Amino acid sequence: MSRGLVLFDIDGTLLRAGDREHARAFVEAMAEVFGRPIDLDGVPLAGMLDSEIARLALERVDIAPVEVEAKLPLVMQKMGERYTARVLAGDRADWVLAGAVESALALADAGYALGVLTGNARPVARAKLVAAGLDELFPIGAYGDQARTRGELVRLACAEAERYYGMCFPAHRVILIGDTPRDIAAARAAGARVLAVATGRYSVLELKAEGADAVLPDLSDPVATLAAVEAVLSGLAPKG
Ligand SMILES: [Mg+2]
Repeated sequence: MSRGLVLFDIDGTLLRAGDREHARAFVEAMAEVFGRPIDLDGVPLAGMLDSEIARLALERVDIAPVEVEAKLPLVMQKMGERYTARVLAGDRADWVLAGAVESALALADAGYALGVLTGNARPVARAKLVAAGLDELFPIGAYGDQARTRGELVRLACAEAERYYGMCFPAHRVILIGDTPRDIAAARAAGARVLAVATGRYSVLELKAEGADAVLPDLSDPVATLAAVEAVLSGLAPKG
């Protein structure tokens, strides 16, 4: 019997953020599908779903929403193909943040089921995990091309976890680990819990102010990570 489901964000949480090959594949895919250059300059990226980013980038250059929606799946597919062709197994091994693997292993050893919940489109996310050597540690997930909001991904991740692990995880036994206020809001919207980590662009104080159930500076200490998850899921964590 699993003690709960722990869903890790990828960029800024498991891996360092700012993957230029991801951004490159993104703009090339939009250009291919729409037949003209479309950039991501100034579009917010941290904590955003790839599908949200694409909508913002495309609608600001006056592509009609109906056309955006019709072609969005193809953009996500083309981006995934380009990223997967360029970023190969081992290419992101040195992007793994300190203690992320050890923390995940400590949680797995303690009986938690693991997955990812990420704004990355599925093919990009899975390629990143393979490139970092983490794909077997995180066998299931929910991804940024599968919903319109991050909060909706929690339900999708639970459904996938139920299929894979063979058990149902109620929202109060699900905890997100992420580095942005959007991870916190997603957990809140879904009735799940959230442990924030200051390994992205937001500080411990900022993440506490956003209402995370617990905040750690990083995942470098697996004992601290496990203790924080246990405290949050038992309802004992002091609220930021
Ligand atoms: Mg992140």
